Amino acid sequence: MNDRGSADTVADRLAVVRRRITRASRAAGRDPSEIRMLAVSKTVPAEVVESALDLGCRDLGESRAQELTVKAEALAERGPRWVFIGPVQTNKAREVARYAHEVQSLDRVELADALQRRLDQAGRILDVLVQVNTSAEASKSGVAPDAALDLVREVARRDRLRVRGLMTIGTRGGDEAETRRCFRELVRVRELVRDAVIDGVVLDELSMGMSGDLELAIAEGSTTVRVGSALFGAR
Ligand SMILES: *Cc1c(COP(=O)(O)O)cnc(C)c1O
Repeated sequence: MNDRGSADTVADRLAVVRRRITRASRAAGRDPSEIRMLAVSKTVPAEVVESALDLGCRDLGESRAQELTVKAEALAERGPRWVFIGPVQTNKAREVARYAHEVQSLDRVELADALQRRLDQAGRILDVLVQVNTSAEASKSGVAPDAALDLVREVARRDRLRVRGLMTIGTRGGDEAETRRCFRELVRVRELVRDAVIDGVVLDELSMGMSGDLELAIAEGSTTVRVGSALFGAR
């Protein structure tokens, strides 16, 4: 953990990220207010996360259940909205169901069942996005594009889970055409699921775009960009 930012640098970086989002939205003929910025706070100490909250960031992204638990308890009075974006082991479903308001990394029926059971016990409802592996890299989690429709159907049957959309991680490493292909693939999968008309499923959220490729994602229709290092410094 090197440069995880003082309050001042977070303020400066946030201003830069907001300008990038505004510029990319306008270039795409979109209203910047349509784009939600998720501040990815994983590995960022709670004091620094607090400065992001002070600056109006409300949606915070975490990718480990243990870290989510610690921060959610430390920052409970600040009322952030915790968004889980990392792979969820089934045996961590209890913590995630207890503290997260949204899970963007739902990738299998077994996890949907584990979350449903824990949410039922806790009397909570969870917004979920189904993660789709659009890059076909074995190292990335997410359901294969061809299997997304069936998974959304299954998840929609669990009354504690509200399916709000899809999430993907675009291929990184600078090949813009390849990253764009990933984002377009997510849009294609969304259309395919929408065409199937599943009761109660609207899929208005497309979570795609990170610090390095948020402009491209906004151009392709992203509604949520997940921004870590551009806000808090390199991990
Ligand atoms: C860490 C992470 C991010 C943020 O990445 P940056 O490149 O630092 O903006 C976004 N999405 C997911 C799923 C992540 O794990």
